[in-house]
Amino acid sequence: MTSRLTLGILGGGQLAQMLALAALPLGVRVVVLEPDPQAPARLCAEHLQAPYTDPAGLARLAQCDAVTLEFENVPVEALAALEGRVPVRPGGGLLARSRHRAREKEALRAAGAQTAPFVPIEHEADLVGALEAVGGRGLLKTSELGYDGKGQARVNSREELRAAWDALGRVPCVLEGLVAFEREVSLAVARSAGGEVAFGPLVENTHRQGILRTSVFPAAAPEGTEARARELAHAVAQAWALEGLLTLEFFQLPSGELLVNEVAPRVHNSGHLTQDGGGLSQFEAQVRAVLGLPLTNWTPLHPTAMVNVVGTAGGQEPDWAAVDALPGTRLHLYHKAPRPGRKLGHVNLVAPEVETLRARLERLEGLVP
Ligand code: AMP
Repeated sequence: MTSRLTLGILGGGQLAQMLALAALPLGVRVVVLEPDPQAPARLCAEHLQAPYTDPAGLARLAQCDAVTLEFENVPVEALAALEGRVPVRPGGGLLARSRHRAREKEALRAAGAQTAPFVPIEHEADLVGALEAVGGRGLLKTSELGYDGKGQARVNSREELRAAWDALGRVPCVLEGLVAFEREVSLAVARSAGGEVAFGPLVENTHRQGILRTSVFPAAAPEGTEARARELAHAVAQAWALEGLLTLEFFQLPSGELLVNEVAPRVHNSGHLTQDGGGLSQFEAQVRAVLGLPLTNWTPLHPTAMVNVVGTAGGQEPDWAAVDALPGTRLHLYHKAPRPGRKLGHVNLVAPEVETLRARLERLEGLVP
């Protein structure tokens, strides 16, 4: 059988690579528009090596059955050029919210979710009283283009706030109150154009220097957390008329309450463990949601975890032989040139029960610098 459907992707990084790897067995061909000649997705998809706004590249994407994306900062002109020619999922309205921290938080609150206290900082005058308004200690984050802890600064005084805003180039920012969370968890929701909805697992996450370090399923969260996270994800998906997949990152407070930290309108690093959990993967879920194929929840069938492989300042690599020898490991490498702070791959880990998983995870973490 030849391909039954073609999916276009704006962006050709590792998320596009893994979306393509999930799409192929479904009979779906993938075309990516991505200027980087070394883009990871080039190895398993048709690679249109051109700027995101390239008319010929966009014309090729417009011939696909649907177009999705692997990053939210797609140029508005690219989306405008595709509009009316091919379904783009998620669409421009949702992306406009999720690419701007202040607008995102306002839209989350409008959908009934809680967030950390925040004050938008756009003009010098906004600095006055801002720190006091968020509880005296905060994180200043650029409203746009921040990821993996980039474009962020911790501030504990008015002087630090002013200096941080200067250092970030006085661009529009959000000052967030520092949340004393108990744990960080995430959960994704998929929704098709027809309104069918399905959920990913509740996953527990740890970070190192602002970058995701580990994800674990099942999360060691209080009873009822997953149901609450699903409820919030469903509310946001409906309110924002999601078509595609959306991941929510939460802070869980000591009271058990969930605050939404941020959302990503796509598969997310914290969902990579679903590749090896025995159920559907988040990548297949996004492909299905975007192309209107039937959806099911994508909860893993057994305990599973993930450790990110990130480039280090000293260029150290994981002890690959030992990683391979550890029972239950599954490698996922992105074929990217190493650079400090760059995500180069991840190692998934499976085990028959949670205790074994936790013990193996500790050993695996010791092998990945
Ligand atoms: P972000 O880029 O917003 O996802 O932030 C990266 C990480 O920084 C989060 O996953 C948290 O570990 C931490 N962080 C971000 N915002 C806050 C906050 N308001 N309070 C406490 N920690 C935060």
